[in-house]
Amino acid sequence: MKLRGKVALVSGSSRGIGKAIATSFAKEGASVIVTYRKNYDLAKKVVNNFNDSLIVKLEVTKRESIKSVIKRVIKKYNRIDILVNNAGINKPADVEDVTDRDWDLIMTTNLKGSFMLTQEIFPIMKKQNFGRIINISSVSGQYGGPRTVHYAVSKAGLIALGHCFARFGASYNITSNNIAPGLITTEMGNKMIETKLGKKILSNTLLNRPGTTQEVANMAVFLASDDSSYITGQTFNVNGGLLFS
Ligand code: NDP
Repeated sequence: MKLRGKVALVSGSSRGIGKAIATSFAKEGASVIVTYRKNYDLAKKVVNNFNDSLIVKLEVTKRESIKSVIKRVIKKYNRIDILVNNAGINKPADVEDVTDRDWDLIMTTNLKGSFMLTQEIFPIMKKQNFGRIINISSVSGQYGGPRTVHYAVSKAGLIALGHCFARFGASYNITSNNIAPGLITTEMGNKMIETKLGKKILSNTLLNRPGTTQEVANMAVFLASDDSSYITGQTFNVNGGLLFS
């Protein structure tokens, strides 16, 4: 088992990619903090077969919520080895129709939320002289997301955030890397797959299918484990060979 004895917090892990990452971490022996925002019962089902876990309610747009989650985790485990910034939202719209409200909501959730969570956990990782930070960005953040300017910019920002923390954490044995998934079958991904744009994205994907949450989780396990000990400040594309044209 690659993560035995490690304590991992995965934001937004009650469903989708976060759930798959939390489940894979647990299979690899980690104690996993599963966070939900709205639905406790979903989170409860996720941890069903976990050896050791903690379920907490987390709203990443609110610093008080982040602080109170960390307090509970420290009380139980007294450490946090792995942080996965996974919680995120999208609200596709033509650029002319993006409202100030939606811009702020996407930025606050996808970017500021990840920043605040990382900023609060970073001193704990420094004290431990160990940490693994993994940001779930998106192919949209690399090439510009059609119909999602706010989302694309937030995900590009997340890549920069990963680079910054790679720099800040290097002398404390903290690595920080990003995963940029293509189209993945989740509630968020399925909404896109059903659209004309989603079909176009799939037709530009060499493997000619959407990815699975497990395929993203496999990369997260690698980046959380000792197998990636000499890798930091990088972005890994899990996108089936998505070509932008
Ligand atoms: P889902 O919509 O299936 O799940 C999103 C998760 O984030 C949910 O657990 C949700 O909680 C949580 N969340 C949303 N907002 C907040 C918030 N303010 N505070 C705390 N938690 C929150 O999305 P995916 O699993 O598809 O996506 C996961 C990540 O992967 C996202 O960052 C997304 O941008 C990224 N991604 C997804 C792709 C895809 O095709 N699916 C492609 C590329 C990147 P709740 O259930 O309570 O709403």
